[in-house]
Amino acid sequence: MKADAIVVGAGIIGALAAYELRKRGLNVLLLDAGKEGAATLASAGMLAPYPEGLSGEVLEAALLGLESYPGLLAELRGLDLEVEAGFSGTQVVALSHGEQEAWGAGEPLSYPVRGARGARTFPGGYVHPGRLREALLRALAAMDTPLVLAEVERVEPGRVHGRGEEGAFSLEAPRILLAVGAWGGRFGLRVRPLKGEALVLVGPPEAQPPQPLFAGEGYLLPREGGVYVGATGREGWAPGVDLFGLRWLADYAHERFPLLEGARLREALWGLRPAGELFVGEVQEGIYAAVGHGRNGVLLAPWTAKRILELMGVEP
Ligand SMILES: Cc1cc2nc3c(=O)[nH]c(=O)nc-3n(C[C@H](O)[C@H](O)[C@H](O)COP(=O)(O)OP(=O)(O)OC[C@H]3O[C@@H](n4cnc5c(N)ncnc54)[C@H](O)[C@@H]3O)c2cc1C
Repeated sequence: MKADAIVVGAGIIGALAAYELRKRGLNVLLLDAGKEGAATLASAGMLAPYPEGLSGEVLEAALLGLESYPGLLAELRGLDLEVEAGFSGTQVVALSHGEQEAWGAGEPLSYPVRGARGARTFPGGYVHPGRLREALLRALAAMDTPLVLAEVERVEPGRVHGRGEEGAFSLEAPRILLAVGAWGGRFGLRVRPLKGEALVLVGPPEAQPPQPLFAGEGYLLPREGGVYVGATGREGWAPGVDLFGLRWLADYAHERFPLLEGARLREALWGLRPAGELFVGEVQEGIYAAVGHGRNGVLLAPWTAKRILELMGVEP
């Protein structure tokens, strides 16, 4: 098969772009190197344009993302692919009178927080990024587009060179998308790794927050019957969750949230956010890149996929 498009990287950005391209009838080849530390697999999946302080074009892109998710999830549900998600807003908890005065709104807390001075709910929600990626990969496989495990080493207009399970390869396609997250430097893209660590805790049913909640330096959200607690932000490639990260997250959960006092650890997660400037564009003839989504790649993925279709000249 000659591919109409090769997508390099199957994090949320590459997987959603590949899905949208395939749905429009293009023959897509989706390649992923299975890098340890892929951001999507550790991600919280908050869809929170306002608490993240986004503005201008990025805010517009984020709002489009937030708006698109219910439709995308319904479409996947129609294929029998259920993804955990919620859209009842994100609550920001003020920990100082100053913060509370700045907002002017005093709302009841949706979840007990020590030291809370007030709260305000913004439009938003969450989606489980790992499950969403898995659902997209299944939908792609059902459209004869299985994920291929391969490391791409070099690209040039019309051609991708790499190494897969059967050795070195060189493949042709008129459109190539680089959606390689924090690993973009290899292709000359300006992006750097910003490690995020997070915990998933389990406790009694009431320990699960009803919606995502920002309080101070961290946040909580529901995760498969437990609670996702995030997240650190640490420059560099150092792999894993280290003691500093563990301690920060455990102290945060323990000190701020009385309902988490007896909670147990289910999982410690880490991933490399692709940090730097958001870039979605053409870098050479027929070679496109989508990197630099930082803390908001899940939120920005629907807009990114739409933009990629436009850039590639594919009918929406
Ligand atoms: C702890 C944490 C919490 C987060 N919380 C949120 C949140 O609440 N809301 C939100 O919107 N975002 C959040 N983010 C950010 C979001 O997860 C990322 O912006 C997003 O996942 C980036 O997706 P991506 O597809 O660009 O990168 P990735 O998910 O890192 O995927 C890149 C893929 O490219 C592959 N790859 C790399 N190099 C090659 C190569 N040479 N050849 C082939 N394949 C290659 C890798 O194997 C990988 O699978 C969070 C991130 C972290 C780490």
